[in-house]
Amino acid sequence: MKLTYFEKGFNFSQDGPGNRLVYHLQGCNMRCPWCANPEGIPLEAPLMVDRSRLVDDVCPYGAIRNGVLDRSRCAECADRPCLSVSRNQGITVRASTLEIDAVWQEINRSRPLFFGGGGVTFTGGEASLQFEALSDLLRRCQAAGINTALETNGTNPRLPELYPYIDHLIMDVKHGSSEQLQAVVGQPSTHIAANLTAAVSFGKNVLVRLPVVGGFNDDDQAKDDFLEFMNQFDKRFIHLEFLRFHEYGISKWQASGQEYTLDERARVSTDQVRDWQDFMRSAGWQVITT
Ligand code: SF4
Repeated sequence: MKLTYFEKGFNFSQDGPGNRLVYHLQGCNMRCPWCANPEGIPLEAPLMVDRSRLVDDVCPYGAIRNGVLDRSRCAECADRPCLSVSRNQGITVRASTLEIDAVWQEINRSRPLFFGGGGVTFTGGEASLQFEALSDLLRRCQAAGINTALETNGTNPRLPELYPYIDHLIMDVKHGSSEQLQAVVGQPSTHIAANLTAAVSFGKNVLVRLPVVGGFNDDDQAKDDFLEFMNQFDKRFIHLEFLRFHEYGISKWQASGQEYTLDERARVSTDQVRDWQDFMRSAGWQVITT
C-alpha cells in the first residue's frame, strides 16, 4: 500500500498542538477557488511549470513552443524525460509516492521532534481520499502513542471509522448553505453534517474552520446560514476558527496549469474576520484566534 503526498514538513501549533510533522496528501474532491495548495487538488500530481526557466528543448516531443507547455500532449507521455533527463529546467512534479512502511519509518524516526504535545498531522488536498493508507498510518501512530491530527473537508462518509485513531480533528466548513457549497466548491454539506454529528456523539472535540472569502461568505446571509448549520451540533465539543483569505497560492494555480478565478473582491479585512468571530461568540460559540 502506498501514500502520495505533495508536501511535508514540520510546523508548530498550526494544525494541531506542538511540533508536528505534516503530510499534505495528493488529491481533493473539492475545487475551492481560494485554495492555497492547488497543486494538491488533482488526483494525479500535475506538472509544475516555472515559465521563467522553461525552454523548448526540455521536451523532446515538442510539447513546449516558445516557452508554453501544451499539457494535452503530456497525457500520453509515459517516460516523461522532462522530469528526468532535463531535471530542474522548468518542469517538476512535487508529489512523492512512498510505501506506507517507509512513511511509518519516517514518522517513527521523527518522534524526538514531536515536542510540546506534537505529533503527526495529515492534511491535503483531502487526506481521506487515500483512505486505506491514511487509516493504516493513523492506527500505527495511535498504537505507538504518537499524537495524531487530521484536517479534512469532512465530506468522506467513512470518516467516522477514523475517529478512534484521531486525537485532533480539524474540519473545514466553508459555508453553512449546502447549495452554496455545491455551487462553488462542488460538494454539498450532507456528509459534513453527518460526520460532525458522529464526531460529537463520539465525544470528540472538533476544531471547525471557516476561511472568510469576499463574495463567498462575507455577508450577513452567509453568517445566518453558518449559524443555522452549526446550531445542529453540541457547542461543548466544537471550537471555531476563522481564517482570513490570502493569495499565497496564486502562482501555483498558474504553475500547475489551473485557472485562478478570484480577483480583488475576494480580499477581506481583519475587521471582517473579527465580525465573524464576534457574531459567533455572541451566539454562544467558542471561537479561537491564532
Ligand atoms: S510530460 Fe512528456 S510531453 Fe509533457 S513536457 Fe514532459 S516530456 Fe514533454
